[in-house]
Amino acid sequence: MATGKVKKEMKMKRIPFGTETELSRLLEHCPGCGVSRRQEHEYGCPLECCPSCHGCLLHCDCLVLPLVDEMKITAAIARSMSLGKVTQLLKSSPLLERGLLENGAMKWIMDHQPVELMQEWDRIAEQAIVEIKRDGLEIYPSQEL
Ligand SMILES: [Zn+2]
Ligand SMILES: [Zn+2]
Repeated sequence: MATGKVKKEMKMKRIPFGTETELSRLLEHCPGCGVSRRQEHEYGCPLECCPSCHGCLLHCDCLVLPLVDEMKITAAIARSMSLGKVTQLLKSSPLLERGLLENGAMKWIMDHQPVELMQEWDRIAEQAIVEIKRDGLEIYPSQEL
């Protein structure tokens, strides 16, 4: 997971509600988590914006928040997860490495260890590793030329 040391120098502050879009400036409270303007969103709020790309914080892959914030958001997402949601996410992101939503799903899997999903996930992960290896082998000779 792309958290921690690698991007340390690029860490950014969270964007408080009411300062991110024209629309949110008109609202007194966040429709997603209920905080007042200029307060930070509740961890895991689906309407929080990413300070780097200004897209939805839970769905982008920037991971620019300090690790402590990312972990709190991850924990909040994990609490809102279910077997159905996790299974759905695995279809679009087999290794769950994209962003905070996937981190939360990963935490949910580790917390619950559902047998049916663990087997399926092992299979997906193995397949993905094989594909990465195969890509690596294909790319390597062409870089040599
Ligand atoms: Zn919110
Ligand atoms: Zn982003």
